[in-house]
Amino acid sequence: MPKNQNLEYHIISDGIFWTDGGGAFGLVPRTIWEKRLPPDENNRVPFSLNSLLIRSEGKLILVDTGYGRKLDEKSQQIAGLKRPEGDLLDALARLDIRPEQIDIVINTHLHGDHCGGNTIFQDNQIVPTFPNAQYYVQRLEWADAIAPNERTRATYLAENFVPLQESGHLNLISGNTQITRHVRTAIARGHTRAHQVVILETGDQTMVFVADLATLHYQFQRLAWVTTYDIEPLETIESKRYWQQWVLEHDAVIIFQHDTQIPTGKLVRGNNNRFKVEPVSID
Ligand SMILES: [Zn+2]
Repeated sequence: MPKNQNLEYHIISDGIFWTDGGGAFGLVPRTIWEKRLPPDENNRVPFSLNSLLIRSEGKLILVDTGYGRKLDEKSQQIAGLKRPEGDLLDALARLDIRPEQIDIVINTHLHGDHCGGNTIFQDNQIVPTFPNAQYYVQRLEWADAIAPNERTRATYLAENFVPLQESGHLNLISGNTQITRHVRTAIARGHTRAHQVVILETGDQTMVFVADLATLHYQFQRLAWVTTYDIEPLETIESKRYWQQWVLEHDAVIIFQHDTQIPTGKLVRGNNNRFKVEPVSID
């Protein structure tokens, strides 16, 4: 979907995984969410692993890296990871892009399903998957990730990010950051303390990759629908209140990282004046 010579963007996938529906929907009773997103026999619902690839001002930028290739068989099974069309590196290869060509990786946060592909096994060592890239991570996210607690340590896995620092690939940023003329990051706190979203401005269209500000479109349209995984659920609600207004003001397309039903949508007023996300295509 190239728009002009200076800007190109693609949604690419690292596959899907299956996660507990109760985890995904938090306090919302199953009787309400199961009609919208039917669970499997183990009460799990599907989550996409979408990443965003952007070519801007001659730089190739990758937003989040999925689960990656380091999970053993058992961990893949627990995550319910499925990759019928291959993983993220296969998706890049289909666009004729080799890992060495990526200039910048932006991690929205450092949970395992967002940065597992940052690093890869090579000759019995764990090294950056994208050897010529600088990896942009929020400084506060980094601090939380390298000192996990009992609640967060199952998803903050050092192997996904510590090797970046050791090899000089880490670029810590603090707060909202302009990356290129078309691309910037903005803090959207709640899922983690320094969780960030990525904004893409093409000239005729504004898009926001919301990551886990709203894992599914259901959480974007309802402030009270918050996943169990959020560290600061009340902050998530305030962040969503802000970003709902922001997408309306900018007529922005929302790109959902984990939503298998609506990967790209716009927020509109539906029946009863309630917000609703309607699918739109960005092709
Ligand atoms: Zn996630």
